[in-house]
Amino acid sequence: METFVSKSKFVVLIVAIFLSSSFAAEVKPFKVALVIGDQWEDPAGFVVDVYRHIKPKASAEPAVIKNEFALLVIMLKTWCIPFDIIRLDQEFMDINRFIGPDGRPDVGCIIWDADQTAELQPQRYDVLRQAVCDHGISLIALSDRIKEPVIQSLLGIKYEGSWQTNRSLNLEGEHFITSGLSDPLDYTEQSVEFKKRVQVELIEAEPIVKQGGYPQVTVRELPSGARAVWIGSNIDRLFSYQPGRTLLRRAVTWAIGYSLFKTWENKAWLIMDDPGTAQNAWLEHWHYPTLTERKIDEHLIKPLKEHNAILIMNVCPGFVNDELKCVEPAFQRKFTDEFGVYQDYQSTKRGLIKGLEASAFEIQCHGLTHMQPDLWSPPGPWYDADLDRERAEVGWYREFGDTRRDKEIPAAEASWRMKTAQRWLRHQFGVNTLSFRPGGGGVSTSFTNCTERLAALAGYGWGGGRSGYLGPDLAIRGWAFYGTMESPLSVAAPPDGHDKGIAEHPEQFLRVFEEHPNVEWMGLNEYIAYTHAGVSNAPGKDFTLQVSYDLHYCRYFEERLSQWNLMVSDWLAQKLKPATVTVDGKTVIENTDFSKQLQIEVPAGLGKHTIHIRQK
Ligand SMILES: [Zn+2]
Repeated sequence: METFVSKSKFVVLIVAIFLSSSFAAEVKPFKVALVIGDQWEDPAGFVVDVYRHIKPKASAEPAVIKNEFALLVIMLKTWCIPFDIIRLDQEFMDINRFIGPDGRPDVGCIIWDADQTAELQPQRYDVLRQAVCDHGISLIALSDRIKEPVIQSLLGIKYEGSWQTNRSLNLEGEHFITSGLSDPLDYTEQSVEFKKRVQVELIEAEPIVKQGGYPQVTVRELPSGARAVWIGSNIDRLFSYQPGRTLLRRAVTWAIGYSLFKTWENKAWLIMDDPGTAQNAWLEHWHYPTLTERKIDEHLIKPLKEHNAILIMNVCPGFVNDELKCVEPAFQRKFTDEFGVYQDYQSTKRGLIKGLEASAFEIQCHGLTHMQPDLWSPPGPWYDADLDRERAEVGWYREFGDTRRDKEIPAAEASWRMKTAQRWLRHQFGVNTLSFRPGGGGVSTSFTNCTERLAALAGYGWGGGRSGYLGPDLAIRGWAFYGTMESPLSVAAPPDGHDKGIAEHPEQFLRVFEEHPNVEWMGLNEYIAYTHAGVSNAPGKDFTLQVSYDLHYCRYFEERLSQWNLMVSDWLAQKLKPATVTVDGKTVIENTDFSKQLQIEVPAGLGKHTIHIRQK
């Protein structure tokens, strides 16, 4: 008996030494592997469509959000949590999807959204056991994508099936993941007839959310240090509720042990299209005098400054000159148009520059001309046409989808226009535009000519209008969660989101400050800089995070500081406390126990910044 006790004490000591020397093993990589089945409709793996089963035409309004894969991509992008996508309809999953060439984990957590009944490549699901049990990589599995026995065994549950219910999702007990969330999770004022409920039997998992007595979110800790979370329910519906999205973010935080992230509550973009474009001088139903410097100053710059707001101006730098029958740099002309209205585009430009200098405007790209590249062939020509015939057709005033001829715009022509617009805007206003909003929502949708894909390749970081994140990795067609923690609200500047409204009813612009009294107005360059920042943790024994800002997408931070949220989960906090946080070598927070979410300020400057958590 005596010997046994001392032996077990010895074992405890060894374990303690092992734990402290292998502390780095507890700091999992800050990266998610998002594993999907056949939800990615683009076989080339670039364009992510928010709206599934809809073939968007140039002007079609998307109907419902139902592709939960796209919602996951949007959430991870907007939270700035780095991730890889693994699509099992094309990829053969092996352990190298999750570990690096040094044999160490490359990701901290797998989000499993692959339905094993979908059309997939032959898969060996046992790889998941290796990742979770041998490498300590955590697993978050969604909804009913848990039919493989190995997935169920890792989660500690047994899958039984899915049936409908109208019961709400209620919190059960206390857990880091659900702490502070509202109960029920899926409260809505609208009546819900029924929703999906996945039924499982608990084997080794603990329920933290139940739906009428049935577990819908479960957690489990494995001996490898991995955490396994199952989030049941209808996931696309769950993510339409703020607590459902926050639950997922906190699940990622708990699974990895920490997260460095952004949220966007009370933020908004104020957007106006068209200053300087030619259509106002030619199109009968869209006809008005271009804004003058005085009008811009009095009705926009002054109220914007008073309300500490910024207006995102989508501008075209090219002007279709009817006399010369060619495109020329915009803002050169003063003339009386054929409707008898005096147009002074030089004055518009002076006003735009004044707004830029006052930091009241952010100029972004609205395409090159807002007009068809081909203005001379049938059913035209548009040049020299009568005001009440071809010129009155709105299809001529779309640039990236040929809505006059019901055709697409060829890829090379579209790309040239996207890049030339950037160059000309830089020349005219000294700005690098990172957001691209195609004029009138005219777009091309085939893979080859896809406007969003081409805009991403042209270096844009955001697609205004009907798309969202654009980058070298992917382009999201559509967006979601406007006006929540997951995305700033997008507000069309009153009265109509265009300069036309200001030309006709300038007094109505002020409405926006009454309608949105409590929002903080932000530009798109700031959002793009965050969502394109490189975020990682440095490999090694320390708990060190890095954010890096490149010259192209993140230039906003060249002279401005940035702010990040750091959240450490309870189990990692226990191992860390108390700790000091330094940024670029300077102490920013002393003696924290990580019981609260921390705000980390990163000083201005491009390149790499280091956030170091030092244990006392
Ligand atoms: Zn427009």
